[in-house]
Amino acid sequence: MRFDQRHLLGIEPLRPDEITTLLDLSERYVALNRQQQKRSTVLAGLTQINMFFENSTRTQASFELAGKRLGADVMNMSMQASSIKKGETLIDTAMTLNAMHPDLLVVRHPHSGAVDLLAQKVNCAVLNAGDGRHEHPTQALLDALTIRRAKGRIHRLNIAICGDIAHSRVARSNLLLLHKMENRIRLIGPPTLMPAGIDAFGAEVYEDMKEGLQDVDVVMMLRLQKERMDGGFIPSEREYYHRYGLDAEKLSHAKPDAIVMHPGPMNRGVEIDGTLADDINRSVIQDQVEMGVAVRMAAMDLLARNLRAHPKELMV
Ligand code: ASP
Repeated sequence: MRFDQRHLLGIEPLRPDEITTLLDLSERYVALNRQQQKRSTVLAGLTQINMFFENSTRTQASFELAGKRLGADVMNMSMQASSIKKGETLIDTAMTLNAMHPDLLVVRHPHSGAVDLLAQKVNCAVLNAGDGRHEHPTQALLDALTIRRAKGRIHRLNIAICGDIAHSRVARSNLLLLHKMENRIRLIGPPTLMPAGIDAFGAEVYEDMKEGLQDVDVVMMLRLQKERMDGGFIPSEREYYHRYGLDAEKLSHAKPDAIVMHPGPMNRGVEIDGTLADDINRSVIQDQVEMGVAVRMAAMDLLARNLRAHPKELMV
């Protein structure tokens, strides 16, 4: 098992074998989480601070549960995005926290790159819980684990990522991971929601759902990131649903055993039909949530091992 990272800031720096190490260890935590006795002492004595400068339901709960199940002392700080200014304030906050000697810092921030910046200023392990439209590494890892369990592998699959690609850190981290693991990726969405320079990612781009979904193994839907839009990206939600909302008819173009994914929170009737989202024969959305806790336990476990093995290297 090799995992040479001191932080988990994104998928970009990870090697394929490190991704596999993390997914393999996650499997052990899936099994632990299904037992009545879920407690481990892997992080006993360590302090985990969760700093969320942006709203979160799943991710924050998942990181908190993951830390507690591993025996860490977990503290949640809910930071109001409106009360912080970029740059100095963030660094001041980081330095203040650093003085309290945390071992693991889980950070979500509305600005891309803010978590990397913070990681340079503290001497604990930092986990990115989503920074702007940049990366959301644990989401891509939990998605990979969900796919691997459903399809028996995480390579050579046809995977469609659909909808608001431009504003989505989930899409970006997934693209990076699925590309590293040698999958064939299709991006489907209106041109207004495709980021510039998308060709560099080595994915095929489609404007039409039926065409793009043809024979795919996995359909990954994305939320319309309204909070990151300043108008004019889609004609109307009704029109968007008609063209890009996943329903049974559009899904019929994918392979008969294709799975449906969504990172949540879902806009039912906008990017996905509610009945389809709840159809346990096709949708693995609840599995994604379950895998999320296991993946975060594995990530914190691996980072804590590196922290213990090389404490000096972590000193700034
Ligand atoms: N929960 C995911 C994120 O934080 C996806 C979303 O919000 O649409 O990026």
